[in-house]
Amino acid sequence: MSGAYDFPIKGFIETSFIDWKHQLSSVMFCGGCNFRCPFCHNSDLVLRHEALVEVPLSYIDDTLHRFRKWTERVVITGGEPTIHNSLFWMVERLKERRFMVKLDTNGSNPRVVRRLVREGLVDFVAMDVKGPIPRYDRWCGVDVDTAKIEETISLLMENAVDYEFRMTLVPFLHTEDDAYEVAEYLRGAKRFFVQDFIPRNTLNPAYADVKAHLPEKMQAIREQVAAIMQHAKIPDSIQRQDGLR
Ligand code: SF4
Repeated sequence: MSGAYDFPIKGFIETSFIDWKHQLSSVMFCGGCNFRCPFCHNSDLVLRHEALVEVPLSYIDDTLHRFRKWTERVVITGGEPTIHNSLFWMVERLKERRFMVKLDTNGSNPRVVRRLVREGLVDFVAMDVKGPIPRYDRWCGVDVDTAKIEETISLLMENAVDYEFRMTLVPFLHTEDDAYEVAEYLRGAKRFFVQDFIPRNTLNPAYADVKAHLPEKMQAIREQVAAIMQHAKIPDSIQRQDGLR
């Protein structure tokens, strides 16, 4: 690979209905992440992405062109897209072709998110909030500069771009109260999505044996979160089940 293009695209879905609020979109998965969440179900993208075959840019260009009459939306997910400087090159390229762009991020690079928002390079940002801020290292498996996490949360809540927060509730790692603590912290946010844990292909193999909460339990937790957040939208779970984020 040469020139400006070093954005490591390791997966691509031509059309998806679950990655952008029920809108049809194409989805790019980039390799690499600065976190090591033990429950992550993208372990190959995080730990072994250099060994994964890169999806050729020409294939992506051709596919986006072919599906253009059905979708004008592209989701960039990972891994963690903001660790790559070439993210700007990629989104500028999509914007030149008049695609709408959604970014999925762990919120660790507010400077990158701010610039993307300020320059009108993203139309939607979905940020994973891993758990209550005071214990953030526990959820992420690495030392985290929580001031940066809080900065990204604050800048999204400025409403300069459409956004949502998401939290994956993992039995044994999180308690129910952790979800309520995050809900309190995010009070005033427009959308908070408490999603199920998927015990598959986990970064820490021990988590593959952890049973997800029953649907009724998740529903009860979402109702309690909705009561705390009052005005926020608390969607039911819609997640991909194929091992990609
Ligand atoms: S869950 Fe997201 S932030 Fe955590 S390791 Fe996986 S890709 Fe990175």
